[in-house]
Amino acid sequence: MMFNPKNVTTKLRSGDIKALTANVARYTGLFIVCGLVTYGTNAIVELYTSAQNSHQQVSKLRNKALELSASLSEETALNKTLNDSLEKKTQSLEKLNQRIDDMENILGLSDENPPQTIKQRVDTAAINSAVKATLFQLIPNGKPTPDAPLTSGFGTRVHPITKQRKNHDGLDFGASKGTPIYAPADAVIEKVNASKYGYGNQLTLNHTMGFVSTYSHMSKFNVKQGQFVNKGELIGWTGNSGLSTGPHLHYEIHFLGKPLNPRPFVNWNIENFDTLFEKEPNVEWTSLLNTVGSMVEMQVQLASDHSQDIFNTANHPKPKVTFDTHK
Ligand SMILES: [Zn+2]
Repeated sequence: MMFNPKNVTTKLRSGDIKALTANVARYTGLFIVCGLVTYGTNAIVELYTSAQNSHQQVSKLRNKALELSASLSEETALNKTLNDSLEKKTQSLEKLNQRIDDMENILGLSDENPPQTIKQRVDTAAINSAVKATLFQLIPNGKPTPDAPLTSGFGTRVHPITKQRKNHDGLDFGASKGTPIYAPADAVIEKVNASKYGYGNQLTLNHTMGFVSTYSHMSKFNVKQGQFVNKGELIGWTGNSGLSTGPHLHYEIHFLGKPLNPRPFVNWNIENFDTLFEKEPNVEWTSLLNTVGSMVEMQVQLASDHSQDIFNTANHPKPKVTFDTHK
């Protein structure tokens, strides 16, 4: 057989091409598989890393949520404390308002122009109560012998000893010898008169604002002429000295030298404050009240300045104080 190169070439080509094609296909497949595996691995690693990060983020958020929750609890507790405190303060304020209302009712201020702030209301109430307290300190009120009964009134009567119709210028209180007599208001002791006649042992007390009171038929004095006494101080003891049918106190009140009926003064107290002004027309009460009022207002204002912080109210008008040096 003769060598035919054409046949060889033909045989080679047909076998090689098949093999080559198979190999190419195999390696291509392998390459794709390798690529896919690499890609897949990378993707898994990426997913895993991402999952790890997410897990950490979730943990962080959970911690943050716990912190916020704790903080919220604290703030809720604080809020509750503040609310409780606020409620207590509101209740105190309501009580204060109620007390001022009560005080204004007692003092008869309810129908007057209502002042705007609590401080003004307190000031007005304080001025009025201070005026009343001052008047009760300065003008005779109450019985000088607290438990002794009234045995003879003021006015014309037939004298029990002289049998003459005469003015009885005071009140008689039946009291056994040695009953304590107390000053019915602040005073200076004007006279200490020891006597066996007429009014017997007699004390004269000079109160402010033109009022004078006398105590007759006493057994003993506890004060000296010129001495200052406060309301309620023991000035002496009852007796039966002078022209007297039995142990008693003869009590007189004079205004500018004129005897007044002491009964409205004896009965005068905080509950019937206005009655004295209606029952005793011989005193210019309005003028007297204005004078005492302005005197007291100044004192209340001075005291009130110290309580400015409590009420924290500015621009409260203060009275102008001037002194007249020409008199
Ligand atoms: Zn008398």
